[in-house]
Amino acid sequence: MNCSKRSCSNSAIIHQRYSGLHLCDVHFIEDVERKVKREMRKQLMVERGDTIAVALSGGKDSSALLLMLTRLFHNRPDLTFFAIAVDEGIHGFRAVTLAHAEQLANQLGVDFFRYSFTEEFGVTLDQIAARGFEQAPCTFCGVLRRKLLDRKAKQLGATKVATAHNLDDEVQTIMINYLRGDLQRLARLNGRREEFVPRIKPLRDVPEKEIALYAFLAGIPIITASCPYAARSFRFSVKGMLNELERKHPGTKYSVMRGYQRLAEFLPHAESSQRLLRCERCGDASATRICKACAILERMQ
Ligand code: SF4
Ligand code: ZN
Repeated sequence: MNCSKRSCSNSAIIHQRYSGLHLCDVHFIEDVERKVKREMRKQLMVERGDTIAVALSGGKDSSALLLMLTRLFHNRPDLTFFAIAVDEGIHGFRAVTLAHAEQLANQLGVDFFRYSFTEEFGVTLDQIAARGFEQAPCTFCGVLRRKLLDRKAKQLGATKVATAHNLDDEVQTIMINYLRGDLQRLARLNGRREEFVPRIKPLRDVPEKEIALYAFLAGIPIITASCPYAARSFRFSVKGMLNELERKHPGTKYSVMRGYQRLAEFLPHAESSQRLLRCERCGDASATRICKACAILERMQ
């Protein structure tokens, strides 16, 4: 099958069922980068003089993100990028991806900073998981990782934190919050809170499969190891359901995203709906008297 783009006679490497297009490698890369640029413009993600901390795990998504940002902004000397990697302490998994992360950052000439749960919180995710709490390890992992990223990004002088959340991740989060009826979280997905280093998600309009293909074409090594805890989470089930829907009804993921964007206009603004306090333990901005990270660490004692 040939590429669907006019006057292109290259062979297609992908069939985008949701758009009906067959694309060759050149036009596929162009399509992914166009979606990323459009999303960044739409959300005003980058401003003059920004220092952007890229959360880099070494997996395909964050590796593709770092590569894409350095490609798209190579002619913007006013911008600074650096990479932050977080070692949660997951035996047999994270060390592998972090080695790739450091290698990629070095290749791209981007400063690389590595932090760990052990050094920062005195506990590994494996130790938390071993306690057998009713919540899945991902719940604790997400809270502590966000905390660490935010704290270090601020200390290192970042004005933005870029994360590699893709369309699939975002749609899963929307769906999880619909299913739980969690309006506050739904509203927060869309808003910025001034006390935190603002988050940007340049890949949020690109399907996960396409980022994997983009990474593959860019020569980023594909790591087959996956986190041993992933399958325990609610997100994992929602992901399976959404993939099944997308397979039977192409375009479902985009339609959940667009539906959410229409609905978001009617949600209370994240900033105004929740006043920020200071955590009594760590002093960081928090929605509650004791922040979630400190609450987890207390449970561990
Ligand atoms: Fe953490 Fe869950 Fe991701 Fe594993 S799958 S790294 S436990 S959030
Ligand atoms: Zn705290």
